[in-house]
Amino acid sequence: MGLTLMMNKTIKNFQDLMRELYIERDRQRGIEKTLLWLQTEQGELIDAYLKEDTSTMIEEVADIFAWLCSVCNLFEIDLESAVWEKYPNKCPKCLMSPCKCPVR
Ligand SMILES: [Zn+2]
Repeated sequence: MGLTLMMNKTIKNFQDLMRELYIERDRQRGIEKTLLWLQTEQGELIDAYLKEDTSTMIEEVADIFAWLCSVCNLFEIDLESAVWEKYPNKCPKCLMSPCKCPVR
């Protein structure tokens, strides 16, 4: 039994959980195939959306986030720090909240 049962449900703790569960498999698979899995899950989310299959959409967003954590574990990137540093309560481009950038 790992430390994860005692953890709060933060992004950092989820990334740590993914490392605890999967880092050896992720290393065996390698970064390129792991990136391909992340891309595949994104395609599956689009497919579920087009089918209006809400329960599958929920599963696919979880899979996307889990695979993103695996990618970050292989790159040794702290995902929680990365998102808060890039998006510190305002848009990184226009520096406004809510964002005032032109929609594109
Ligand atoms: Zn903006």
